[in-house]
Amino acid sequence: MDNCIFCKILREEIPAQKIYEDDDLIAFNDINPAASVHFLIIPRTHIASLMECEKSDQQLLGKMLLLAPTLAKEQGCTDGFRTIINTGRVGGQEVFHLHIHIIGSKDRLPAMI
Ligand code: 5GP
Ligand code: ZN
Repeated sequence: MDNCIFCKILREEIPAQKIYEDDDLIAFNDINPAASVHFLIIPRTHIASLMECEKSDQQLLGKMLLLAPTLAKEQGCTDGFRTIINTGRVGGQEVFHLHIHIIGSKDRLPAMI
């Protein structure tokens, strides 16, 4: 997708602090971190949001979710972390390329709705 900012990161047209990559996924630090640890896991395939996912994406979604604790621990989140997937306008999604936020801190994160 030409104008998708995360596709541009995937094509290395804009820089990002990558912390992981494989054939299906990459993970990089959020440019505007909400806590001391804040990174995003995205698929290499452009999928706009969770609402566009299909049955054929089941394995990819599972891989994204399972990567979260592995990378979170590597980033120092030994006592837990938060995963967020904002979906669509109501969900507050700003970048329409599927991504999981992983957010962690030394202290308990504030409650959220
Ligand atoms: P959303 O609201 O779509 O779930 O969150 C998008 C996230 O992408 C935001 O936390 C925002 O800070 C992050 N983001 C937006 N543009 C860039 C960018 O160019 N580079 C990086 N590393 N993160 C970005
Ligand atoms: Zn994209």
